[in-house]
Amino acid sequence: MPRRPVSSVSRRLLALLLALAGASCAAPRPPSLDHAVETSWGVVRAARRDDAVEIALVVERIAPQVAAAIDGRRESALDIRLVEALPNQRWGGATITTEEARWIELLADRRDAAARAILAHELVHFWLGPAWAELPPAIEEGLAIHLAHKAVPEAAPRERGELALVLGTLLEGGVSFEGPGVARGPAGPILTSSRVRYTMRARIDAQALPPLASILALDTNEIARLRAPGARAVLDALAYVAVGRIGVGRLRQLCEQARVLGHARIPAEWIWTSARLDPRETVSLEREVRAMLGTAEIRALLLRGDLKLGAPLDVAR
Ligand SMILES: [Zn+2]
Repeated sequence: MPRRPVSSVSRRLLALLLALAGASCAAPRPPSLDHAVETSWGVVRAARRDDAVEIALVVERIAPQVAAAIDGRRESALDIRLVEALPNQRWGGATITTEEARWIELLADRRDAAARAILAHELVHFWLGPAWAELPPAIEEGLAIHLAHKAVPEAAPRERGELALVLGTLLEGGVSFEGPGVARGPAGPILTSSRVRYTMRARIDAQALPPLASILALDTNEIARLRAPGARAVLDALAYVAVGRIGVGRLRQLCEQARVLGHARIPAEWIWTSARLDPRETVSLEREVRAMLGTAEIRALLLRGDLKLGAPLDVAR
């Protein structure tokens, strides 16, 4: 019996799948694109040959690091499709699995560090195979974020800063820190030499979330039904912290242990215990938030284009 649904997508696509289920029963199909460029890891397809060539070069650089980090990865050739738009404009990428195919969709025009991190992130989803079947979906997401940061460290500060902000808002209503001043530059915010005390909060509704103790073990359908503002961001942040504290090797062992004991998924309490965290006593998590907010993370948060000076930063992920 397959433990995962035959047709599955990474979390960023769940809303789409539900919408499709309402409209028709057809499974999503890989977009057909004119140009294909082979890499050592599989193929990159795009409407413009130049896009496929450039992303193929990025794949050659990043894929070895991601592959080396996933013990027992699925040995299948990559199928990356560069598209003009993803079904939801807030998505950066998606890994889609149907009965016939498995492919990654990425935006064709993105070349920045964040886009390379999205590629690394989707490679993790693509390559996690049966050896990792017992990972709860939220933890899979945390693992994808964690490994993407290892493969593309230049993209990590901003995302880590955002995750710290989300977690700090959940636990303490916001985060406070000292950092450089921010001024409006011609092409967006610039940092100044003054020192400023900031308080920021993310747009989340902590009251509307499931209890902390059970949140990391939610199944795919339960996650898809979460409607509280910022709920996905909270899941990502908690899972990212848990994965960092547990470690990738130990996480793999927990999958094996769960399998031996007949659990479909690693039980939530194993996650908390292995991460040396207690959902009823959040001091360790609060310390983690402060540790995540280093100089680079603070600078990246302050340089967000949507930072509103004089108003709390609203981060919706
Ligand atoms: Zn993901």
